[in-house]
Amino acid sequence: MKLILLGPPGAGKGTQAKLLVERKSIPQLSTGDMLREAVANQTEVGKKAKAVMDAGNLVSDDIVNAIVSERLDADDCANGFILDGFPRTLEQASALEKMLADKGLQLDHVIELKVDDEALVERISGRYTCAKCGEGYHDKFKKPETDGVCDKCGSTEFKRRPDDNAETLRTRLMAYYKETSPLLGFYFAKGQLTSIDGMGEIAEISGEIDKVLES
Ligand code: ADP
Ligand code: ADP
Ligand code: ZN
Repeated sequence: MKLILLGPPGAGKGTQAKLLVERKSIPQLSTGDMLREAVANQTEVGKKAKAVMDAGNLVSDDIVNAIVSERLDADDCANGFILDGFPRTLEQASALEKMLADKGLQLDHVIELKVDDEALVERISGRYTCAKCGEGYHDKFKKPETDGVCDKCGSTEFKRRPDDNAETLRTRLMAYYKETSPLLGFYFAKGQLTSIDGMGEIAEISGEIDKVLES
């Protein structure tokens, strides 16, 4: 199963990707996570990406395409993968087509999560993750079962992203509408796009995604 989750920042791509990893045993390929790791490790890529990410702008296509191309070669991608946050520009979409063609692979589905802008602001401003295992949480919509303790790994340390603030979100949303939303037309024209309502409960949306994957 090779699929892309498309949607604006805060739409729930990461949340749904992590749940799909459990259900389908295929990896989540999040370019945001990969870039944040590069920033944390102060690699060459990380040094180039940090200021761009903090401002809410898109990292250059060359950098991101190279990261994804390398990641797709890993053994764990042999049975499929979930692309979360990539592609984000038409150029990245073309680069992905070429990467997949070179490897003799084809995408199965592109799923758009549709969420209202006001809901995105609320989701982004309440988002935090476990500092140890990366499990995602929300102040209002997805609290750990025991206050302050990660459901998955028991850690009591959590973190918030520096770019998850109302001001940077505006820049990120602009980037989405300008650079990423044209991909909806691109994949619709290829007959690969399914749009689903991302405004419901997390479990409900997982059910809708499963319906698409079974179709
Ligand atoms: P993305 O990866 O698209 O940026 P996330 O999956 O990180 O989005 O979700 C953003 C925030 O919204 C997280 O705090 C997450 O827990 C929460 N969230 C995800 N899906 C839903 C949903 N269906 N309803 C309410 N909150 C959600
Ligand atoms: P979200 O889903 O909440 O928008 P991500 O974790 O996917 O956040 O991305 C965080 C930041 O990383 C983006 O604002 C951008 O700077 C950078 N980034 C992630 N993926 C890409 C990509 N495919 N192309 C360019 N920049 C990217
Ligand atoms: Zn954890």
